[in-house]
Amino acid sequence: MTDHARALVLFSGGQDSTTCLAWALSRYAHVETIGFDYGQRHIVELTVRPTILEKLRELSPDWARKLGEDHLIALPVISTVSECALTRDVAIAIQDNGLPNTFVPGRNLLFLTVAAMLAYRRGLTVLVGGMCETDFSGYPDCRDGTLKALQVALNLGMATDLALETPLMWLGKAQTWQLAQEVGGEALVNLIRDETHTCYLGERHWHDWGRGCGECPACALRMKGYREFMQHLTEDLT
Ligand code: ZN
Repeated sequence: MTDHARALVLFSGGQDSTTCLAWALSRYAHVETIGFDYGQRHIVELTVRPTILEKLRELSPDWARKLGEDHLIALPVISTVSECALTRDVAIAIQDNGLPNTFVPGRNLLFLTVAAMLAYRRGLTVLVGGMCETDFSGYPDCRDGTLKALQVALNLGMATDLALETPLMWLGKAQTWQLAQEVGGEALVNLIRDETHTCYLGERHWHDWGRGCGECPACALRMKGYREFMQHLTEDLT
């Protein structure tokens, strides 16, 4: 059953946000997308976005009808004020505070605030993001409590009634593939595997779980999740 709400999905071109986009298309009447260019060194994420949008439209006439405008917003301010392994050419490592140096402090808070500003103008009432507590890195701005507090702050601050949906919040990586299977079948799983980009180093070498360097934490996590998912599929068939 389609919810008549109009949604805005934070869409980076990665596995998680593409899964969220498909989830939103299977659920809401109208869906727009927003992406951010903040000088991330894996800029390749941004270049795969238009291809993914086009292929999602090809996958389903219903999704093609629902999928509206894509908004790409430049946020150079992020690399101006913060230094991290995603915007500088340094090795990925764990910092003294226990967080990886890929953590960009406040990034998701800023993304969601800008998304809420755009949603206000576009008449969209649901924000969808791929934040997830089961993520290996434990980014504090991906936590459920952070996002619930932000939803309250945004609605108080803008006199709106925005809902902030995070369908992946409690899912492991294999379950995220499972969700893709549920909302779009094998065709969507293959699209996500072949077209999305997750690798921190921006490399696009081909593997059975998709493209990437195969070594960085994001690639390792993606590989593990995909293999677990495939193993469950095989077990279900036998
Ligand atoms: Zn990688």
